[in-house]
Amino acid sequence: MVPALAMIRFVGCKMNHEYFMGLALDEARNALALEEFPVGCVLVHQNRIIATGSRRGTADGGKNEIDHGEMVALRRFYDLNAEIDPGEITLYSTLEPCLMCFGAIMLSGIGEIVWAYEDAMGGATGCDRSAMAQLYSRNSICITPYVLREKSLYLFQLFFSRPENTYWKGSSLEKYTLAQAETSESPETFVGCRDTKR
Ligand SMILES: [Zn+2]
Repeated sequence: MVPALAMIRFVGCKMNHEYFMGLALDEARNALALEEFPVGCVLVHQNRIIATGSRRGTADGGKNEIDHGEMVALRRFYDLNAEIDPGEITLYSTLEPCLMCFGAIMLSGIGEIVWAYEDAMGGATGCDRSAMAQLYSRNSICITPYVLREKSLYLFQLFFSRPENTYWKGSSLEKYTLAQAETSESPETFVGCRDTKR
């Protein structure tokens, strides 16, 4: 039986995660409006947004693989020069971070990642860190997947169904994303933190 206090904390955490993921989705919608790949990101410290970011460099056939939403948000965080412990920051991203972003997030010492839609082609958060060098294998980070997954999926389906958007056209991610419509029943599952201190 789950103790009442633990349950209250769990429910509170879920609501918080959905609230801040909602704001990351707003960033993703802004990107989509600019014909960019719809990835949005917010960094949260003590229930306050300290930096936001969205994907840049994919509109008009561009293929800039540096300005991912998470990288843009991290750069803005560093530009703040704020005295904030990165371990107390939660990063919300509407797409599962790729290897570059996951590496930058770990190197930055961010304490928690919450993401919405799985990147079936390039997502890196499920990698086996225990086999990596100690900077990564000893990194402790909490990862919470699938928060508001359907809302994020919807934006990626919109992106891939527009012929003018050529970024990752014909990729396995496009095929996977558009195939999700046929299954339609992909529940917004909140599974809690699945990865704790190693
Ligand atoms: Zn990335």
